[in-house]
Amino acid sequence: MYKDIATPVRTKEILEKYGFSFKKSLGQNFLIDPNILRNIVSHAYLTENSGAIEVGPGIGALTEHLARGAKKVVSFEIDQRLLPVLEDTLSPYDNVTIVHSDILKADVEAVIAEKMADVDDIMVVANLPYYVTTPILMKLLNDRLPIRGFVVMMQKEVADRITAKPGTKEYGSLSIAIQYYCTAEVAMIVPKTVFMPQPNVDSAVIRLIRHNEPPVTVIDEDFLFVVTRASFVQRRKTIFNNLQAGLQNGKAKKDEILAALEAAEIDPKRRGETLSIQEFGRLADALHPHFA
Ligand code: SAM
Repeated sequence: MYKDIATPVRTKEILEKYGFSFKKSLGQNFLIDPNILRNIVSHAYLTENSGAIEVGPGIGALTEHLARGAKKVVSFEIDQRLLPVLEDTLSPYDNVTIVHSDILKADVEAVIAEKMADVDDIMVVANLPYYVTTPILMKLLNDRLPIRGFVVMMQKEVADRITAKPGTKEYGSLSIAIQYYCTAEVAMIVPKTVFMPQPNVDSAVIRLIRHNEPPVTVIDEDFLFVVTRASFVQRRKTIFNNLQAGLQNGKAKKDEILAALEAAEIDPKRRGETLSIQEFGRLADALHPHFA
C-alpha cells in the first residue's frame, strides 16, 4: 500500500513541487483527510469487478482510493495543469485512466464502452466542483448511461434539496428531477476542515441509486419536468396560479388547467411543494393534450 496523497503534509509537498495554485473558478477544494475518503468510497459498495467514474480528480486524492477498491477507474479532469501531477501521483496504479475534458462536453458513453466493457457495474464517485453540481448530475442521468448510482460530495444545501421529501421547504423541481431517476439519501455531512482550501459552504455526500423503473409512468418525461419547474416558480403561490403563469408563457387557459387538476384529483389551492412525484405524473399526463 502506498502513502496516501490526501494527508495535509503530502498534499502540500505535491502542490509545492508543481507550483500549483488553486483556481476558485474551477471549484478546486481538495480533500486532505484519508479517513473521509475511505468513508466516501465505502458508501459506493465497490467490488473488485466494479468500474468507477470520477469527475475532477484534482491531484488524485480520491482517485487512488477508487483505484484500490475498483477494477477500473476513469477520471475526467478539465484543468490541464493537473495532468503531469496526476501522472506522477497515480503512477503506482495501472487501472486508472485520466481523460482531459470538461465532463459536460465529454462523450462519457464512448469512454465507458472503450474502458469499462469488462466491469460488472459502474458507480460515479466524486468530490464535485460545486459550481456545476446540478448540470453534471443531470447530464449523467439524462444520457442514459449504464451507471448503477452516484456517491458524490456537494454543497450541503444542494444535497438537502436533492434528497428532500414532499412537504418540506427544500422540496422542489430539483428533488423531483433527481428522484425520478434515483433513490436519494444524504450519506455523510462533511466538515470544512477536511478541504484545502476550505470552502465557504458546508458539504455533504449523497448516495443516489438508480431505480429499475421510474416511480411514475408518464406520457412524456420532458413535459413532466416542464410542469414541475412551472409549479415551483413562486413557492408561495398555489399550483393553479403557478401553472397559469408558467405554461405557454402565461397564456395557458384557466379552464383547461382546472380540468386537468380535477382529472388528476389535485386541489387547485395546493402548493407544488405538497405534491408527490406520482401526483405530478398524473397532473403532467392530464395537462399533456393541451399544453405539451
Ligand atoms: N477529487 C479531488 C479531491 O477530492 O481532492 C478534487 C476535487 S475538486 C472539488 C473539483 C475538481 O474538478 C478539480 O480538480 C477541478 O479542476 C475539476 N473540475 C472543475 N470543473 C470541471 C469540469 N467541468 N469537468 C471536469 N473536471 C472539472
